[in-house]
Amino acid sequence: MKLNVEIIPCLNDNYSYLLYDRSSDTVAIIDPSDFTTCDKIINEKHNKLDYILNTHHHLDHVGGNEKLKEKYKSKVLGFDLDKDRIPGIDIALKEKQNFKMGNISFEVIFIPGHTKGHIAFYLKDEKIVFTGDTLFSLGCGKVFEGTNEQMFRSLNKLKNLPIDTKIYCGHEYTKKNLEFCLEYDQNNEFLKKKINWINLKINSNSPTVPISIGEEKKTNIFLRCNEPSIKDAVNLNNASEQEIFSKLRDLKDSF
Ligand code: ZN
Ligand code: FE
Repeated sequence: MKLNVEIIPCLNDNYSYLLYDRSSDTVAIIDPSDFTTCDKIINEKHNKLDYILNTHHHLDHVGGNEKLKEKYKSKVLGFDLDKDRIPGIDIALKEKQNFKMGNISFEVIFIPGHTKGHIAFYLKDEKIVFTGDTLFSLGCGKVFEGTNEQMFRSLNKLKNLPIDTKIYCGHEYTKKNLEFCLEYDQNNEFLKKKINWINLKINSNSPTVPISIGEEKKTNIFLRCNEPSIKDAVNLNNASEQEIFSKLRDLKDSF
């Protein structure tokens, strides 16, 4: 199956994603930030919207739900735990649930930390994962409702996906994340090699997503907490991987 994924830049730095499967004529959107921006593209390209999927309840991810649902009679899908705070929810998904939208299949991965009910949509056949505000390119989301420990475990779930899985995340934070990674992972050659590429993308207003899990494992400091050089850089040589993660997450908050 050939799934088409269209990146829709929304608000300041959000990404919504429009999915289209020709074989079953299915259209779905992930995290519609705002009605007008998303509707313009949906209207132009397909003039229908079967499903609305939300990774979590924050307004910059669900802002377009109700108006899109009203206009296109779409079904809204969100996590069971958040059924009281996802606008217009029709179908409450469970952890590890497999769901089919036409010929598009996905699995729900429960990844709390940023919020209590955050999920990722894993399209195994397509080798794609939508990670919302949990895993960003070269970074991870702020821990608002959960604990650093939860966030660490959630990131590990994503880190263990096949390395050729493509990550589509909720925000364009790559440039700022790169600066943080460079601060504490100075000798990482893979990271240095990305500087030019990232600058080129950002300067030409192009997205730095998707990016592969394999690439992130080599460059995203939050997925590299077991590296001795990083333990060194934060002066915690005997700390566990999770303690290093926690330290880095705190440092990033005030970076
Ligand atoms: Zn969020
Ligand atoms: Fe967000």
